[in-house]
Amino acid sequence: MTEIETMWKQLEDKLRSTGLPYEYDRIRLAFDTAAKAHGEQRRKTGELYIHHPVEVALILADINLDNESIMAALLHDVVEDTELTIDDIRKLFGEEVTELVDGVTKLGQISYFTYVEQQVENMRKMLIAMAKDARVIIIKLADRLHNMRTIEGLDPQKQRDKAKETMEIFAPLAHRLGIQRVKHELEDRAVHVLDPVGCREIEDALEERSQSRDKILESIRLKLEERLGSSGIKLHIEGRRKSVYSIYRKMFMQGKSLDEIYDIFAYRVIVDTVADCYAILGIVHDEFTPITSRFKDYISTPKPNMYQSIHTTVVGNEGIPFEVQIRTWDMHYTAEYGIAAHWKYKSGEKNSKDLEERLAWVRRLLENQEDDDPEDVMQSLKLDLSLDEVFVFTPKGDVINLPTGSCIIDFAYAIHSGVGNSMVGAKVGGKIVPFDYVLQNGDIVSIITTSAEGHGPSRDWLKIIKTSEARNKIRQWFKKERRDENIEQGRALLEKEMRANLINVPEESKEQFLNGIAQIYKYPDAIELYNAIGYGGISVSRMLPKIKEEFTKQFRDVAEHSHTASARKKVSGGVIIEGLDDCLVKFAKCCNPVPGDDIIGFVTRGYGVSVHRKDCPVINNHIKLNGNERILRATWAASSNERFIASIKILAHDRYALLADITQICAQMHLLLTSVNSRLLKDGAVLTDITLEVESSSHLEQICSRLEKISGVTEIKRA
Ligand code: MN
Repeated sequence: MTEIETMWKQLEDKLRSTGLPYEYDRIRLAFDTAAKAHGEQRRKTGELYIHHPVEVALILADINLDNESIMAALLHDVVEDTELTIDDIRKLFGEEVTELVDGVTKLGQISYFTYVEQQVENMRKMLIAMAKDARVIIIKLADRLHNMRTIEGLDPQKQRDKAKETMEIFAPLAHRLGIQRVKHELEDRAVHVLDPVGCREIEDALEERSQSRDKILESIRLKLEERLGSSGIKLHIEGRRKSVYSIYRKMFMQGKSLDEIYDIFAYRVIVDTVADCYAILGIVHDEFTPITSRFKDYISTPKPNMYQSIHTTVVGNEGIPFEVQIRTWDMHYTAEYGIAAHWKYKSGEKNSKDLEERLAWVRRLLENQEDDDPEDVMQSLKLDLSLDEVFVFTPKGDVINLPTGSCIIDFAYAIHSGVGNSMVGAKVGGKIVPFDYVLQNGDIVSIITTSAEGHGPSRDWLKIIKTSEARNKIRQWFKKERRDENIEQGRALLEKEMRANLINVPEESKEQFLNGIAQIYKYPDAIELYNAIGYGGISVSRMLPKIKEEFTKQFRDVAEHSHTASARKKVSGGVIIEGLDDCLVKFAKCCNPVPGDDIIGFVTRGYGVSVHRKDCPVINNHIKLNGNERILRATWAASSNERFIASIKILAHDRYALLADITQICAQMHLLLTSVNSRLLKDGAVLTDITLEVESSSHLEQICSRLEKISGVTEIKRA
């Protein structure tokens, strides 16, 4: 048999041994394609290059990864190292395999230690790629694992670089992915390259001790088996020694001696159910003395990487402490294979199962959460995700990245304009959030939509969205769906702004003037200009200088009149009118507003703005009849020394010297009265009208409450 055929046989046997329904035809095609493409290429170790992708595929077969992953593993170096292109792969093997190969190729192009900034950026890309499809990372880890197994082929400096990279990036990643089996081997191989002397020291010490303790440990194992076996619980016990690297870490990084490390020797008990786990725990604690401080229940509180087990350290009769880990088979599988467990190949239900868990994991990874593990991947990767982008997920697990500060509307439009346009709300992590909720890294966002006819985005959304994509799509919608409304709104907006700026085009010339303005901005006529203003395609404030200029050019005399009118009385009487710097302001006599009152401005024809109280019946009646086209928002300026005229009506029982008492109070309060008018009503009561100067509405309230205390007064009202 040729070298190639032997290799294929080895892979096929491995795959068949899993008992899983792999597609051997397609895998064989991938194998042949890779073997042919790599041809006579050889690795630094001297063997044919094709050995490497086959070994990677074997590692993945070992953890029962799915069909597409095995194929991608075989093809993973083809695009980078041979003539074949990614399009060739697509034609031969379809989209899914291509995506995986492309992802692995891209990860291979990352230079992890060039610059710190670049590293952050690259690692972020890596995370995104991973979140899109975790299999890319699993293949990459298997690739790295095989490269570490064959690292002797490299020169010493290259070996150290690779080992450091493995220790700092790939082992922590495997840890986060929960693939302990790969993590431990990567660490052990890397630490042997980085500190061969230290490793030797540990191995010698272990060797020495294990010889002297072998019997004792074997007897503990027998005792465990005997004691636990009699419980009737179906179980599997394995004895294991801690990995060299984990001992290395405790000795050289935490400064412990080998004797202080309790869990050098450990037993693992694997059972069928969670209830069995706790039953076993009871028996172990009954038989041996537990070291309470070393008890950890990761079944009730799983680790962020989904690891579950009970850990307890007990002391046997011989005084030797040892660790017992108790877990179910499911937990065991997850502990060994982590995220890979969720890509385990099962026919018929590929990729659909455990989606929630897979998502939850990616979420935890991105959350940068607290972790007592000093190997915290976030630390070692120096990853800062909060720079200027936020990563959130669709309920299907797709990653959407948006600028920091984006809201759920941005998210909805990032998915599809149809989703945005029919959106009525959103849930983040299952809870309804307001539209202006600021998205956080790792949020799982589901958009609530409606199929109701005529539903669409709100203009208010334009104020809270962050992305231009959402802005454009919302405008598009208004442009298309709400033409009549746009025209109406646009016209009102433009006319209001023009009035506010005292651009009073004579009625008979208006149409012609506005058509002219429209053409300046490349719209066929005023109607189209209104439409554009309405959907937000052009802003009125941007056009205003030009409109002013045209107005002055075409209607010099009208403009001059407006100008002198506004110049004559620049001070706006302590009132700020929306959109106007200075204009003629007068206070309406019908309601005499004073500072503190809610007010509005009313654009009069050619005489500036009159200010009314918001509750003024006169102006409200006008609005009811004519709409609010001539209404402007108005507020009081922060400070003002002006005084304002107010009128009040005092109703009282007629009595001697009533008026004298009223005027006396006014005098005490230093009020300037401009008119007092008192008359007797038919029912015998007295109505006194007073007009006086006040500073503000609260000042007026003060006055009223003083006047109310006058004997005989029954009611005081503002006029
Ligand atoms: Mn490779």
